[in-house]
Amino acid sequence: MQVKPQPIRGMNDTLPDAAVTWRFLETVVREVIESYGYREIRLPLLEQTELFARSIGEATDVVEKEMYTFVDRDGDSITLRPEATASMVRAGISNGLLHNQRQKLWTNGPMFRHEKPQKGRYRQFHQIDVEAMGFAGPDIDAELIILCARMWQRLGIKRIWLEINSLGSSETREIYRNALIKYFSSVKNQLDDDSIRRLETNPLRILDSKNPDLQGVIEQAPNMLEFLDTESEAHFSQLKVALDAAGIEYRVNSRLVRGLDYYNRTVFEWVTDALGSQGAVCSGGRYDGLVQKLGGKTTPAIGWAMGVERLVMLYQTGGGQSPSNSPDVYLAMVGEPAERRGMDVAERLRDEIAGIKVEMNLGGGSFKSQLKRADKSGAQYALVLGDDEIENNCIGLKPLRSDEQQCSLAMERLIDTLGSKLN
Ligand code: ATP
Ligand code: MG
Repeated sequence: MQVKPQPIRGMNDTLPDAAVTWRFLETVVREVIESYGYREIRLPLLEQTELFARSIGEATDVVEKEMYTFVDRDGDSITLRPEATASMVRAGISNGLLHNQRQKLWTNGPMFRHEKPQKGRYRQFHQIDVEAMGFAGPDIDAELIILCARMWQRLGIKRIWLEINSLGSSETREIYRNALIKYFSSVKNQLDDDSIRRLETNPLRILDSKNPDLQGVIEQAPNMLEFLDTESEAHFSQLKVALDAAGIEYRVNSRLVRGLDYYNRTVFEWVTDALGSQGAVCSGGRYDGLVQKLGGKTTPAIGWAMGVERLVMLYQTGGGQSPSNSPDVYLAMVGEPAERRGMDVAERLRDEIAGIKVEMNLGGGSFKSQLKRADKSGAQYALVLGDDEIENNCIGLKPLRSDEQQCSLAMERLIDTLGSKLN
């Protein structure tokens, strides 16, 4: 027996009933993002490996062990993008979008990370990504967070909370880094292998460890916020004032470091307790040094990325509804004249009633079997055409989901009647 083909582990098909929810959520999110003046940009899925190594950081989980990297036919090292910020900045530089300009951009699409697949964590996953380049903040920091709050509100999502932190400047981060190395070295016997390795390369990442056994040691670590420089401290307190003014609740979490290296000052995460240990729904932060690091002019910038799979799950666990993907009407036809006329009727409905979804019965069958299919299709109404209807220039209208009466309509009344029933 032949083996059934399987998708690659951690890469999912989004079937029609899920796809309709995805599209609904993406549409709402897009509307909210664009209502703040962000414009869509579309980027390639592949970039040169070096772009990610330089931006995300060599000593991060993503670059160390999660990237899909290969050598292409030209001998170049290519990587399937694990996130969008690096590509966004690259596009800003390659297209000259950042020369004395400010850009508010967003994009949406698949990202790839070779992680251990589990609920809410996949190898191909999707992000909606929003970036503002050329803005020093903290007003834009606040706006980007307020925008998220508006999304949750529009979608009726309630089980979500905001955590914020400031990573300070690169100088203070260096001082903090040394303090962390000193502290974690003193408790080295309590660390796990990953953390011992990070002690040398990237001690801040230890704070981000998900190992429950380490949480006690992490609790006792020096507090990042006590190391902030004056400007970063002012930036952070202005952000908090702006969030307070907007009525947005938050928790300051001085252990929030974020998994990628390019952040400074503001970092934040919208978290939920509804998705088990995959609690981060939307994460972001400021990356004032990245544009310059990748070869552009010094450009302050900030952005966030939201996991679409996690958004979908969170929306659904909260009881969120999606529009239907069923047809509005199913057209049943018996007899050759009816079949010929049916094609016209369906086309006219599509011409005259904006957005109507008409499914024609194809391949014949008795009225009984066609009405069974009509019911199964989820359509609101069946339209029925047989020899009698053709002779009398009328059409049967049979409600499938309500106790409205079935009736026979003169053909010229069909558009009006159906139009008002469906509106
Ligand atoms: P996590 O802590 O869950 O690994 P992260 O800090 O690696 O998340 P980011 O790189 O900031 O996440 O990506 C932004 C968002 O993308 C996350 O908040 C999450 O919603 C989503 N995300 C990240 N990795 C995955 C994945 N492997 N599968 C599904 N969604 C993901
Ligand atoms: Mg991660």
